[in-house]
Amino acid sequence: MNHIIALAGNPNCGKTTLFNALTGSSQRVGNWPGVTIDKKVGRIKGTDSELVDLPGIYSLSPYSPEEIVTRNFIVGEKPDALINIVDATNIERNLYLSLQLIDMGIPMVIALNMMDEVEKRGDKIDIDVLSKGLGVPIIPISAAKKENIDGLVEKIMEVADSHQLPIPASYEDSLEEVAAAAEKVLRGKVPTDNMRFYAFKLIEDDQLVNEVVPGARESIKEDIQRLETEHDDSADSIIANSRYDKITGLVQKAVTHAPRLEKGTLSDRIDRYVTNKYLGIPIFIAIIAFVYFLAMFDSPDWSSPGAWATGVLNDAFANFSAGVADWCASEGVNEILTSLLTDGIMSGVGAVLGFLPQIIVMFACLNILEEIGYMARVAFVMDRIFRYFNLSGKSFIPLLVGTGCGVPGVMSSRTIESECDRRITAMTVTFMPCSAKLPVISAIAGALAGNMWVAVYAYFMGIVLVIMSGIILKKFQRLSGDPAPFIMELPPYHAPKVMSIIKGIWERCWAFIKNAMTVVLLATVVIWVLSHFDFAFHYLDPNTQMDDSILSALAGAIAYLFMPLGWGDNWELTAATITGFMAKEDIVATLGVLLLGDTEASISSISAALADLLGNGAAIMSFFSFNIFCAPCVAAVTAIHRELGSWKSTGLTLLYHTLLSYSVALFVYVIYGTLDGTYIEPYVYVLAVASAALLIYLLVAKDPFRQKSRKVSE
Ligand code: GDP
Ligand code: MG
Repeated sequence: MNHIIALAGNPNCGKTTLFNALTGSSQRVGNWPGVTIDKKVGRIKGTDSELVDLPGIYSLSPYSPEEIVTRNFIVGEKPDALINIVDATNIERNLYLSLQLIDMGIPMVIALNMMDEVEKRGDKIDIDVLSKGLGVPIIPISAAKKENIDGLVEKIMEVADSHQLPIPASYEDSLEEVAAAAEKVLRGKVPTDNMRFYAFKLIEDDQLVNEVVPGARESIKEDIQRLETEHDDSADSIIANSRYDKITGLVQKAVTHAPRLEKGTLSDRIDRYVTNKYLGIPIFIAIIAFVYFLAMFDSPDWSSPGAWATGVLNDAFANFSAGVADWCASEGVNEILTSLLTDGIMSGVGAVLGFLPQIIVMFACLNILEEIGYMARVAFVMDRIFRYFNLSGKSFIPLLVGTGCGVPGVMSSRTIESECDRRITAMTVTFMPCSAKLPVISAIAGALAGNMWVAVYAYFMGIVLVIMSGIILKKFQRLSGDPAPFIMELPPYHAPKVMSIIKGIWERCWAFIKNAMTVVLLATVVIWVLSHFDFAFHYLDPNTQMDDSILSALAGAIAYLFMPLGWGDNWELTAATITGFMAKEDIVATLGVLLLGDTEASISSISAALADLLGNGAAIMSFFSFNIFCAPCVAAVTAIHRELGSWKSTGLTLLYHTLLSYSVALFVYVIYGTLDGTYIEPYVYVLAVASAALLIYLLVAKDPFRQKSRKVSE
């Protein structure tokens, strides 16, 4: 028979891996919670049944949008059966959700995953004892090793065909009495199969259930009060404690741990350094610096693999472009058309595509770090810091995703339960340097004589801006609140899976190429037209007359805004910044079109032209800082709008980004310039001191909501 089968489990318990093993599709597998955002559907191999992959959740109480998605699906759409995947290496915490799922009254099988890991540790789990104690069939599997997947399919089909319901656990008498009273009021108003679920939700005073059966809680109020007085606790904690007690008892009976080595496993020993309070962050900085080093370090003596390959590709583009120019000249192709092809499209798109090797190296490294389990450690380390600033470590996961691309980064903020943290994260993810900003970073590094520390600056300044924004934004009432709890176990380190790394790289590269061929191509043509013609639409000589162009007039009109940042009256820079709003790669593409005239387009020539134009390191760094942290590209803005739900909030977010990045650029310019001996006009110092004062005020002003929200949670 064909059934609809749902797959539910805690974050990071191997749900996506199992989904792929069951359906044969290859969803992205992440090594941290929250990678699965929306529910996904596939057909179980060898059957006609559909499998729905739900977001990972810790419980059925709706705290996060994820939990609401899962719960609504199970309650509302009533799948024919449920596979509850349980991480056998974290059995206690995982079974908490299982007990709640069992109460839902849907045919169910527990897939006890990661059994390979359990065996490796030498632990033993008595499946029979556990299964009898829980009242639900349990199939031990290893999703990653594809062990016993057939057994699982067979069992879930059997349970779905025969509509075999799990048997809810029973708890101590006083709680059962109230549950019985609750069931009495609910009878006839909710489906009988789901009775147990609704009864407990009613006792817990759950909002959604109160809506389904309004007033029901009123009639069992006295029973609940009696229970609460007897236990001197709130009803929902009594239920939670009863469940935990039940689980602890069961696990004690069913699980035997092998004696642990005195020194711990190899993973434990590595973690002692990597998650160390003092060493964790320096190690992380060193690793990220090394990644950028491999991707982009370039000097006359030695080039990193990424920089070397970019050089080769660039030469190829330059030769090709020169060949096209020669061919056009020999064939007598119109001068304007030749310029569009070579100075416009090839300078722009070619400059952007040239960065592909750097992107490949960068994402190979980041994907490996993620795959082996290192990034999960970083999230853990960052949680300590974030929590200190009243933020949640959960925010760090979207930031990691955001280093690939801001759009999924913003989207993955959805996994954060607390509304304020979720909004703040969605608003600030794009401070992180995404792959499209890599060409900008590379061009700037080149302009600063190959100093690749600008990459590390971009990465960690991004994190600092997120933390600063958290502190500032939480002082506004709409965004105030306690940080979301962050529970995450650290999976043991394991060897990376080559296929999934290649897939990750390919996804990034393909997105990058597509963007270069569409948005960047379009933008370079527009920029070429605007910069090679004047308002009377006369074609201008790119070497001498560009200052009379339409673009020069438009961009020049706002160039004075950036004078305090040391950009001079160079309209080319403002034009590049504006096109960066379409896509961040466009910044480099536009500079390629505008600065190179008929010199050969190559990354080093763009860097050299930029250094020439700005004249000093301070201005280069200020140009860089503004461009990398200002309003994100259109695609990311749309994603932010989707998460925030209003154009007003989105607009304020963009304004906030622009003002903050302007201040950062200003500080960088003043500090770098002062140290460097660059002449800076006095009014710029005044402006810098004023914005520093404002920023410090916003940072240190008392948070009017922090105290209050603390009390509520106590
Ligand atoms: P999800 O968050 O629940 O979707 O979990 P994923 O499918 O993304 O898996 C989380 C991590 O656990 C990944 O690194 C997987 O490779 C790993 N994993 C999944 N299943 C198993 C398994 O059976 N054994 C082991 N050792 N690791 C697994
Ligand atoms: Mg997943």
